[in-house]
Amino acid sequence: EAKESGRNAYRFFLPEMTHRVTHRLQVEAELRCAIETGELRLHYQPQIDAATGRLCGCEALVRWLHPVRGLLPPDQFIPFAEQSGLIVPLGEWALREACLQQVRWRDAGLPPLDVAVNISALQFRRRDFVATVARVLAETGADPARIELEITESALMDATPELVASFDQLVALGLTLALDDFGTGYSSLSYLKRLPLRRLKIDRSFVDGLPDNPEDVAITSATLSLARDLSMDVVAEGVETEEQRTYLRSRGCGAMQGYLFSRPLGVKAFGEWARERTAAFA
Ligand code: C2E
Ligand code: MG
Ligand code: MG
Ligand code: MG
Repeated sequence: EAKESGRNAYRFFLPEMTHRVTHRLQVEAELRCAIETGELRLHYQPQIDAATGRLCGCEALVRWLHPVRGLLPPDQFIPFAEQSGLIVPLGEWALREACLQQVRWRDAGLPPLDVAVNISALQFRRRDFVATVARVLAETGADPARIELEITESALMDATPELVASFDQLVALGLTLALDDFGTGYSSLSYLKRLPLRRLKIDRSFVDGLPDNPEDVAITSATLSLARDLSMDVVAEGVETEEQRTYLRSRGCGAMQGYLFSRPLGVKAFGEWARERTAAFA
């Protein structure tokens, strides 16, 4: 009986495993092609100056315009990209595209915008990362003072002297560094002292329960006062309600991003949104 079910379990286990591996290899192969053939897109989510309500920047977020499955969100392919190392060419593509877009907006007469790009820990750890960024900036003509690199705490887990040096080099290039999803990862606050980070992004999971949930209030106020004492700016992510906006503004949060203002938008829709917002505040 036990032997029987054991054998069955084995029989079921094997195809399931094979299926998963096949699926992973298939997605990786498709993704590799997608990067080369131009199936990736960047969407841009507005960031709002909390004090004035003006558009102050945007975050570039990658999507995959899959020929069969349609527009795929990053959680459906970024994990595969991380596992396979494809995040490196993908991330370089995203940085280049965001830089090119900033130049296009400038040429189209839009007011200058800060553009934030997500950078994976795997990219940061590469020896050639700073050189790659410098090359992309030079080739695209983007304004480094208006390009922000977003990193997560996982990129800082082993803050080696080399890593610290490369952060300093990125700042020397004129770029801004931001810490994404602050408080959700492996945190040692000592990196805030050693690294030239200019902004903290309060994760959506903490904004969610504002202004009623006592834990979210505690974490958010602590983050805001820590940032203030360290002379860092703060962006709150995932702002969905007026109550959240009012609370964050009253506590001195500098910038906000979330569905209350806008979802991430394709280039055309973002341009229209930006024009309307700018006109409304002129
Ligand atoms: P993230 O960098 O923390 O980006 C914020 C995510 O929150 C985005 O999801 C955005 O659409 C979503 N969001 C913004 N406002 C709201 C809101 O009010 N409510 C809710 N429910 N969600 C909101 P998205 O675009 O699906 O991206 C997910 C993650 O994928 C990003 O999280 C980032 O970690 C990763 N990602 C996206 N693009 C890239 C990229 O080019 N490179 C790398 N390495 N990672 C990327
Ligand atoms: Mg981000
Ligand atoms: Mg985030
Ligand atoms: Mg995230």
